[in-house]
Amino acid sequence: MTKLSNRVLEMEESVTLAAGARAKALKAQGRDILSLTLGEPDFVTPKNIQEAATRSIVDGSASFYTVASGLPELKAAVNTYMENFYGYSVAPNQVVAATGAKFILYAFFAAVINPGDEVIIPTPYWVSYADQIKMNEGVPVFVKATEENHFKVTAQQLEAARTDKTKVVLLNSPSNPTGMVYGHEELEAIGNWAVEHDILILADDIYGRLVYNGATFTPISSLSEAIRQQTIVVNGVAKAYSMTGWRVGFAVGDPEIIGAMSKIIGQTTSNLTTVAQYAAIEAFTGPQDAVETMRQAFEERLNTIYPLLNDVPGFEVVKPQGAFYLFPNVTKAMEMKGYTDVTAFTTAILEEVGVALVTGAGFGAPENVRLSYATDLDTLKEAVRRLHVFMEK
Ligand code: PMP
Ligand code: GLU
Repeated sequence: MTKLSNRVLEMEESVTLAAGARAKALKAQGRDILSLTLGEPDFVTPKNIQEAATRSIVDGSASFYTVASGLPELKAAVNTYMENFYGYSVAPNQVVAATGAKFILYAFFAAVINPGDEVIIPTPYWVSYADQIKMNEGVPVFVKATEENHFKVTAQQLEAARTDKTKVVLLNSPSNPTGMVYGHEELEAIGNWAVEHDILILADDIYGRLVYNGATFTPISSLSEAIRQQTIVVNGVAKAYSMTGWRVGFAVGDPEIIGAMSKIIGQTTSNLTTVAQYAAIEAFTGPQDAVETMRQAFEERLNTIYPLLNDVPGFEVVKPQGAFYLFPNVTKAMEMKGYTDVTAFTTAILEEVGVALVTGAGFGAPENVRLSYATDLDTLKEAVRRLHVFMEK
């Protein structure tokens, strides 16, 4: 008899982390693998941030615990960030930091979900949302964002999914995995709908700084006072500052919910690693030009690789406006090669031509695969060349 809890038995492994780990393991065995799996920028963390972290180690400030929710200086730095990129200020009791945006999300669900509460998630969705909700005895309710509607849901669709158990609606714009970005009016309609029905908005804005070709990121929390009060913003440093390994996430919003999340953090991880807090302070308050340099590199990669990928037989891609993923529909490609299951199709690509992608299955999209273009152009071009080889075999 298994010793494991039902909770963990019912949980899926993160398909992104699993695909990344498999690619690494095959490479370690000497296989020639190109990994387009993880959404992880290939740049080293900017120098000014490294130096601020080093200073905090050498002068001893990084040696100690901080309050569980984060250093007062970090909360002030988050306020600076919010003023610069959201256009409004936040008080210290509206800010909490933790070990990655991923754990911030978990703390949020743990703080607000009672058994049976429903969280509306537009699909395709990032892999960890549904399992985190289930781990907290909530019920994910999926609303399909169709390719025809550029992978966006409307307020009408949300209304059709609403029940008296609906507690939260989750928005992730720019989106992982589709890269789509919601516009001002679309967000206003969704925000007003949430306010009208007293539904919390969880805005996962982690890709907000990464938009391309003139697209703009509109934070839903910036649209009106009423919408802001209904919204918990989740953000972090991983994507925009190339700091995935530092594990810094934060949330901003209603002091009661932020306080509850801080209590959960205090009883689980305690404070976010102190040295990482000093790094994040510098990220939010120091020069921002490295972010723009990296954004431009992603934009160039997107503009180069998107038409090449669309040319691969059977791959059909909606051009994304943000994040760093391409999410082709491979229905035709699977038909051409005789596959009905996208995970088997993804595995065959890995085995036959050494290109590691992520199956769309974990994103609630069994007709798609995900490629991350947070890697160098030569690798991306070679990967697309190999996809041609695979399809034309
Ligand atoms: N939200 C989304 C949509 C993501 O893609 C990720 C992946 N990094 C996270 C949250 C978690 O970010 P972090 O690395 O800060 O935990
Ligand atoms: N969020 C990234 C991705 O989707 C990193 C992996 C993870 O956190 O799941 O690839």
